[in-house]
Amino acid sequence: MLINTPPSSDQNSNITSKILVTGGAGYIGSHTTLALLNAGFNVIVLDNLTNSSAESLSRVQRISGKTLEFIQGDVRDRKLLDHLFTTHSIGAVLHFAGLKAVGESVVKPLDYFSNNVVGSVNLCEAMAHAQVFNLVFSSSATVYGTPKEMPISESFPTAEPTNPYGHTKLIIEDFLQSLAKSDPRWSIALLRYFNPVGAHQSGLIGEAPNGTPNNLMPYMSQVAIGKLKFLSVFGTDYPTHDGTGVRDYIHVLDLADGHLSALKAISNRTGVNIWNLGTGIGYSVLELIRAFELASGQAVTYQIAERRPGDIAECWADPTKAADELGWKANRGLTEMMTDTWRWQQANPEGYGG
Ligand code: NAD
Ligand code: UDP
Repeated sequence: MLINTPPSSDQNSNITSKILVTGGAGYIGSHTTLALLNAGFNVIVLDNLTNSSAESLSRVQRISGKTLEFIQGDVRDRKLLDHLFTTHSIGAVLHFAGLKAVGESVVKPLDYFSNNVVGSVNLCEAMAHAQVFNLVFSSSATVYGTPKEMPISESFPTAEPTNPYGHTKLIIEDFLQSLAKSDPRWSIALLRYFNPVGAHQSGLIGEAPNGTPNNLMPYMSQVAIGKLKFLSVFGTDYPTHDGTGVRDYIHVLDLADGHLSALKAISNRTGVNIWNLGTGIGYSVLELIRAFELASGQAVTYQIAERRPGDIAECWADPTKAADELGWKANRGLTEMMTDTWRWQQANPEGYGG
């Protein structure tokens, strides 16, 4: 297996192979593409732009001062993938492409199984055909369901998902396990993200959700900027220190660095490796609101509301395995996450369309 490393990290490597980033125009993909370019990798992004804009990639190039290749297309398009693998020397794939809205997945399960599961199977078929066996997959802490205790380590069992989105992540994880068992050439990282927030410190790239956001961080920042009237705090009767839900919020730049560490690690491993990408610290909804108010100087109007169906009380990572095996840990604290989110929100009130 060969992932040719950039000149800065290995002077002797043969710099011919590229990294294919599916979904690279999206929130996490764009920050990771930037980290790859900054580290000296050659990057090809494949994205169908269903939930993103090519403007994110223009800005990634502006920040890095480097160029990337962008192909607008779908991971379900096998002909396109075969063409990509034939015309480029690709050493590894970072696979972000997919749909991610939990509520929408309940209403449109076909779209979720098609984009996420069919897309991943199709990608792996094309990779096997092209003899490319290094894959980093975007999974989620949602695969743990409702764990009995905190923090969550990778040895915890996975659980029956409560929605089609979670189901697709678990199915893909299971299928990748089977694939690696069938052929020892595969080297796969399953990265289970906790709650990514924040933005690049330039304020040029960040999270740009379509329509009304579902997640706490983008919802809260749109309240602060006056686009939304108030935030609903979903439940104050959870068995947590202040009654509101507790999550492990991780800066998207730390998450991006985790991908580079995983990419390096899988070039020396085979089979499937699972790593939690979280900070190991849980914050409540009310703590997040206070931290955001302090960082932004804006009051966040909120109302107490019923629990949101399907939510768990608390969820935070044990990041020890990633620290031991990848030499990676999240370095950015809550204040930096809030400040960077606010800078991005203020500079881009309409996301990339503004
Ligand atoms: P995002 O929607 O910003 O990025 C996903 C990108 O994939 C978008 O640019 C979209 O246009 C593209 N895409 C979707 N379907 C495609 C297809 N069939 N072919 C080609 N491109 C396609 O989402 P994100 O927050 O950056 O998430 C990236 C990955 O991480 C997703 O797989 C998501 O499920 C996973 N994840 C995200 C979170 C989170 O909270 N953001 C948490 C855990 C896991
Ligand atoms: N949350 C909230 N109001 C919102 C959105 C989210 O109170 O408008 C809470 C939610 O109940 C959970 C936390 O914020 O406790 C994080 O939710 P999010 O949807 O951001 O991520 P999740 O952990 O559900 O993937």
